[in-house]
Amino acid sequence: MRALVVIDFTNDFIDGSLPVGQPGIDIAPRVSQLTEQFVKNGDFVVMAVDMHEADDPYHPETKLFPPHNLRGSKGRELYGELKAVYEDNKDAIYWMDKTRYSAFSGTDLELKLRGRGITELHLIGVCTDICVLHTAVDAYNRGFDIIIHEDAVASFNPDGHKWALGHFQGSIGARIVSAEV
Ligand code: ZN
Repeated sequence: MRALVVIDFTNDFIDGSLPVGQPGIDIAPRVSQLTEQFVKNGDFVVMAVDMHEADDPYHPETKLFPPHNLRGSKGRELYGELKAVYEDNKDAIYWMDKTRYSAFSGTDLELKLRGRGITELHLIGVCTDICVLHTAVDAYNRGFDIIIHEDAVASFNPDGHKWALGHFQGSIGARIVSAEV
């Protein structure tokens, strides 16, 4: 059994307050396409979405980044076409708030995956070298097989993006794929 985890594909992370910019815009059609494909196939699809409170003094990211993905904000809505894909398939997509880089941190993701007998995790979204990376490392430590869709991950940092793809393959045994699954 397999699942797709779509990571942080929101306005703030693509062209908002903490933007990936063009590389993020470029992968948007593929992110929507893969999401639709997995939903159509009946796979478990998770929308893992960063959530912050304004000026939270207890959150480690407050001193690292400008405010982003604030609860209830426009910036926290899904970017582009993905928003409509989610709205059209709400019943088939698990919306999961997260507050750390990794989709496993402080969430019930692992329980949801284990409960469904899922062993293979497909990761897409942003940023390749931050939230996708931390999620992949946690997935590795929990024994999941990891597939990274190279044409559906992006970062504001081209060197970080490249490094992370190498790390996925060389250090956590992920399969790097693109185009059709
Ligand atoms: Zn954040």
